[in-house]
Amino acid sequence: MNLKDRVVVVTGAGSGIGRATALAFAAEGSRVVACDVDQARLDTLAAELGDRKLLVKKLDVSDRLAFRLFADEVHAIAPAADVVVNNAGVAVGGTFLDTSLEDWDWLLGVNLRGVVHGCHFFIPKMVARGAGGHVVNISSILGIFPAPNVTAYVASKFAVRGLSLSLRQELAPHKIGVTAICPGMIATQIVADGRMTGTQMTARKTKVVDAFKRGLPPAKVAQAIVEAVRTNPAVRPVGYDAHVIAALQRVAPRTLNALAAQVQRRFGAG
Ligand code: NAD
Repeated sequence: MNLKDRVVVVTGAGSGIGRATALAFAAEGSRVVACDVDQARLDTLAAELGDRKLLVKKLDVSDRLAFRLFADEVHAIAPAADVVVNNAGVAVGGTFLDTSLEDWDWLLGVNLRGVVHGCHFFIPKMVARGAGGHVVNISSILGIFPAPNVTAYVASKFAVRGLSLSLRQELAPHKIGVTAICPGMIATQIVADGRMTGTQMTARKTKVVDAFKRGLPPAKVAQAIVEAVRTNPAVRPVGYDAHVIAALQRVAPRTLNALAAQVQRRFGAG
């Protein structure tokens, strides 16, 4: 796909992978529609996008009505999006026993319902227009490897990968590609802005935040997303850690059980 002047929607575009993705598509000449819950981050992004900014708007992707109105606003400017990147996400770390139902609702509202909303409100117009397009959903290495002590996050990311693989089959006849992106550890705000539950995990938050600072730069994921729109892989791991996990899952899935047990011994509660 030639990306010049294409309409590219990116959710959670105020920080990290979303921001890098919005800027990467702008550098390709695309017209960018960006949303986030954080207005200050959006203001900075809007200035960075310059004339490649089509619409930059505050939106909570878990809010169904607000998402509908946001999509209506986009469709009043353009007949359909060419690319939708369902990126907005949050993290909750802690044991299942320490994770409240309120934490589950918050996380699934953004990480899963947000992706469903992005697909629901943008794909019908893409199909109706009949000119193809691409849907990119951000899953994770934890959408392949069920690490312990992050059950809500793992549940959301497995769901996003599954949804994407299923949707891919349905949309193929419409020439709309679907890719689940599975990054490993990326240096973003996700842990710093996320929630830790339980005393053990809460005490560890600073260490985890520091560990994520050693992750890959978000621009690497943005580059993989732009490539994915051109080459349409079903699942695209990003980073050495993600490639190793994806390969193990294919050729030696039992080793992932051993790895999960090791993570549990090292970080688990009790
Ligand atoms: P980030 O915290 O830097 O950026 C996430 C952005 O989403 C923030 O600007 C935040 O304000 C926004 N956001 C949060 N809730 C929102 C909502 N309800 N509606 C709209 N926007 C909202 O984190 P990131 O790491 O760039 O995360 C982007 C995606 O990448 C997420 O889906 C995350 O799960 C996924 N991911 C991240 C990593 C990593 O190591 N950082 C690894 C794999 C997958």
